[in-house]
Amino acid sequence: MIVVMKPRATEEEIRAVEERLQELGFQPHLIRGVERNVIGAVGAKLVELPIGLETMDGVDKVVRVRAPYKLVSREAKEEDTVIKIGEVKIGGPQICIAAGPCAVESEKQVLEVAKKIKHMGASILRGGAFKPRTSPYSFQGLEERGLQILAAAREETGLKIVTEAISLLDVDVVSRYADIIQIGARNMQNFPLLKEVGQSGKPVLLKRGVAATIDEWLLAAEYVMAEGNYEIILCERGIRTFETKTRNTLDISSIPLVKKLSHLPVIADPSHAAGDWRLVTPLAKAAIAAGADGLIIETHPDPQRALCDGVQSLTTENFGRLIGELIPIVGAVGRKMQHYSVQEYYHN
Ligand code: PEP
Ligand code: MN
Repeated sequence: MIVVMKPRATEEEIRAVEERLQELGFQPHLIRGVERNVIGAVGAKLVELPIGLETMDGVDKVVRVRAPYKLVSREAKEEDTVIKIGEVKIGGPQICIAAGPCAVESEKQVLEVAKKIKHMGASILRGGAFKPRTSPYSFQGLEERGLQILAAAREETGLKIVTEAISLLDVDVVSRYADIIQIGARNMQNFPLLKEVGQSGKPVLLKRGVAATIDEWLLAAEYVMAEGNYEIILCERGIRTFETKTRNTLDISSIPLVKKLSHLPVIADPSHAAGDWRLVTPLAKAAIAAGADGLIIETHPDPQRALCDGVQSLTTENFGRLIGELIPIVGAVGRKMQHYSVQEYYHN
């Protein structure tokens, strides 16, 4: 249930509604909008709309949300959520690019890639320090040392950092270093982990599970938001289908659909969808054309020697080409790249 406040409702009136909702057994979530504020009320098992709320001062209307997810739905908030980390914005008119290796391997590798992608227009550096590998014998990541390397690259370049937490045990250490905590496809329905990152105070990049429906994905986001964390970036990274020629199938239709169903920003990960670096650029273009708010691209200084996901990683040169090819598409859909310097860089 959503309580829509009048545009000029006072803070006192908002507080009174929150208190009333608590008395009724709801958990109130204040969602601040540009035009007006709404209060999402979740948790209570009441079937009927509680009477009396509509007559409270400052209340415009009370709406029952039909979707199974409540706080993440468009019904709860009409305008797009824009997540701000310093001067970096995810959501809104600008396209935000994250890039970097699948796994943090060494200081040299991360710093080299970070400097180049920054120059080419990325705002966020990706890199796994805790790796969810299919085989227990594959490289599992440098753990805290990897996080320290990412933090050193942030210090040097100013890029923000996104890195994955794969278990409840690493949320604490990951939140101490990361700007954004990634929840990987394999953990999309790890509910205790979702609740933990919901309490971490850090923005969360929530990947779609390999076999997750859109409703399941949005309900996973609802778990995070129900803990009071409103900063969630959804990431379409391909789903498993009958097709085996690609690693996964990038579900392009999920991008406009999720943007219709939810106010949260949606980005695409063409690297894990494709599983082949040659497909990354065309899929990236398609995702932006379909309305994605950004991309996360695996980029490695020497993909052939990568310890993880080298086949789908772009070289830094190819990452630069991707950005160059993306710019006309970004313009064609009425958006802008986050870093204007890139446009100058490629057009001059
Ligand atoms: C990754 O980003 O390196 C990763 C493991 O992604 P996913 O969870 O989408 O497979
Ligand atoms: Mn990877």
